Amino acid sequence: MMNCPSLISRVILSGLFVLVLAGSAHALPRIQLLATGGTIAGAQADTKQSGYKAGSFSIEYLINAVPQLKTIAELSGEQIVNIGSQDMSDAVWLKLAGRVNQLLGQPDVDGVVITHGTDTMEETAYFLNLVVKSDKPVVMVGSMRPATAISADGPMNLYNGVAVAAHPDARGRGVLVVLNDEIHYAREVQKQNSTQLDTFKSLNRGRAGVVNTGAPVFFSKPVPRHTASSEFSVEGVAALPRVEIFYAHANMGGEFIDSAVKSGVKGIVLAGVGDGNATTPALEALSKAAKAGVAVVRSTRTGSGVVARNVEVNDDRMGFVASMELNPQKARVLLMLGLMKTGDPKQLQGFFVEY
Ligand code: GLU
Repeated sequence: MMNCPSLISRVILSGLFVLVLAGSAHALPRIQLLATGGTIAGAQADTKQSGYKAGSFSIEYLINAVPQLKTIAELSGEQIVNIGSQDMSDAVWLKLAGRVNQLLGQPDVDGVVITHGTDTMEETAYFLNLVVKSDKPVVMVGSMRPATAISADGPMNLYNGVAVAAHPDARGRGVLVVLNDEIHYAREVQKQNSTQLDTFKSLNRGRAGVVNTGAPVFFSKPVPRHTASSEFSVEGVAALPRVEIFYAHANMGGEFIDSAVKSGVKGIVLAGVGDGNATTPALEALSKAAKAGVAVVRSTRTGSGVVARNVEVNDDRMGFVASMELNPQKARVLLMLGLMKTGDPKQLQGFFVEY
């Protein structure tokens, strides 16, 4: 004979299960938007392409400009700063990293989308790629045309960015940059053109994927360490070590390198010619800096390629670190974080191989 109370409870339980399933099938991913300014929030006096002010519109304006966002994610927004990204600073990076980590630690947040100017987006993306402690998606979006321009690219970039952040395949890939229907890894992406829409390229290892009207397709996974598997943390950190970049050119002297050392810089990145090279006086000044305890990393101004140890320049003898695949601006980010752990060139070199 059937036990009635147990039958009733089974019916109630299976009803609840169906309800939960139905609920989860319709629940949209919860994405938090963090706005920092840039052209995506920029306004023009008229619709000509020149003469606009980055960081004019608020996060609410950006969300309201794309009503379709409500169909792909449950969104909430927050303004971190409203600046052109040429003014991005260590202080904003630390604030942003703290907020992203806090949000991703909450069970009710599935991913974060950051709006940002394109000028320094690759630096912010790589910084967060090294200090965010979560596998949840973090996507950065921007635009090349201001919000008020003819055929502004911001709305579609924002829509695609939210769609990528809401997609399960975006997990565990580190920080992503979405623009012009392309998805890029933070470590690989570089701004390559001053004004064109297809400015972002990943010249060494290629794009992470593509996104067509909200439908992402990912290619290969990133190999170097990032986010949850990174050993770097800025929790409780108030300031980052000062690292400057020196751009190599014909007839480069060593005197500005000497004055950087005198001014107390902790690290120098050489945006070297070719394979991370520079004039004899510049290399001598850099070697003197390294011997005085300043970390010196050789990168290249060419825009792509690998700067490996001891090829054209004797790193062992001069006390240098080779940047491997990192361009000068990203080498600077890794060096700042590396210097918070060690000043030893050998250990620093290890970071440039792993990250
Ligand atoms: N210089 C501005 C910035 O990076 C405008 C460039 C842009 O956002 O595309 O914020």
